[in-house]
Amino acid sequence: MRRKLVIGNWKMNGNRAGNTALLSGILAGLNDFGADCAVCVPAPYLAQCQAELQDSPLAWGGQDLSVHASGAYTGEVSAGMLVDFGSRYVLCGHSERRAYHKEGSELVAQKTVAALAAGLTPVVCVGETLEQREAGETEAVICGQLQAVLDVIVADDLAKIVVAYEPVWAIGTGKTATPQIAQDAHAFLRARMAQKNAPVAAGVQILYGGSMKPDNAKELMAQQDIDGGLIGGAALKAVDFLGIIQAI
Ligand code: PEP
Repeated sequence: MRRKLVIGNWKMNGNRAGNTALLSGILAGLNDFGADCAVCVPAPYLAQCQAELQDSPLAWGGQDLSVHASGAYTGEVSAGMLVDFGSRYVLCGHSERRAYHKEGSELVAQKTVAALAAGLTPVVCVGETLEQREAGETEAVICGQLQAVLDVIVADDLAKIVVAYEPVWAIGTGKTATPQIAQDAHAFLRARMAQKNAPVAAGVQILYGGSMKPDNAKELMAQQDIDGGLIGGAALKAVDFLGIIQAI
């Protein structure tokens, strides 16, 4: 039985006072819903999360990391730095990084390895654009993105990653994938992972991301291979984020 996981991706949003209000609002409503919950925040706010979420049921993490441990890489944040501030998760290969920073699947795979080496749980994001879906390339695209990671991690480490299926056309657009579209992609991704390590693949958490809201979360998360959500816009309001967690 896989545990559900809901991760909020704040993207480049927040400020100290607003974060405190958001985090305390989430904590106030967070009961034992039988799910793991986390927020992935801009790096400057990791210290705030460490101070305000320590010993709480809400974990935290980063939105990106460097493949390097340290050195002359201005602007980058290493896995060790994320760990230093108590991070548990880190997003790898979010579509906004792939699109705006030209991150390719090989780089994303190296970031996944760097995260694993530091003891972080990498959340490997994959997803097709609208053009790719309409061209019938969805499986080829997400397979390629996942395979780059599978090629470089050892079989046992499959148990230490989380995968997020995030169709690019659904992110921040209000267009959610139907539960069936999402389930088909999740089942496909799990089958690919099973080729590397079948028993472990059955336990890997695969999150759906793309305009998940309280009113569509229940149906999505009821699908056999959907193990939770990676939430953007709806993670910025405590009531919405909690509404999604409660939908489990
Ligand atoms: C995301 O940024 O990962 C995301 C899923 O965003 P949204 O929920 O706003 O579509």
